[in-house]
Amino acid sequence: MKKSELTRSYNSNWKKYQFQRKIQVYCSHCKMWINEDTTEFINIEEGMQGEDKLTFKCPDCGQTSTSRRYS
Ligand SMILES: [Zn+2]
Repeated sequence: MKKSELTRSYNSNWKKYQFQRKIQVYCSHCKMWINEDTTEFINIEEGMQGEDKLTFKCPDCGQTSTSRRYS
């Protein structure tokens, strides 16, 4: 991930959901951690232990991935 991508944001989706910033999600295709703000929101659901599980489109590989959100 390039440094510039950490500050870039596609916020038209995110503003609606008002997620906290600096949350990272894991792309299982890239094997990389990504700033949630740079991803394209698809869905969010609650996991078995009450954790948030985000389904997103990865800005690097363009594939859909589901990850727990880590802050
Ligand atoms: Zn990816």
